[in-house]
Amino acid sequence: MRIGIKDEGLKCEHCGAPITEEDMYIREINGTKHYFCCSHCADAYEREK
Ligand SMILES: [Zn+2]
Repeated sequence: MRIGIKDEGLKCEHCGAPITEEDMYIREINGTKHYFCCSHCADAYEREK
């Protein structure tokens, strides 16, 4: 899947770390795509919801 995000302001929604296209980890939660720096942050975010 190609994403094409050129926005440099993208940050991990859990820890707030800046995300690069290489490090990007995307998880779809309740039909919405959320962006994280790693799978651990995605897991933690999902658990908190
Ligand atoms: Zn993170």
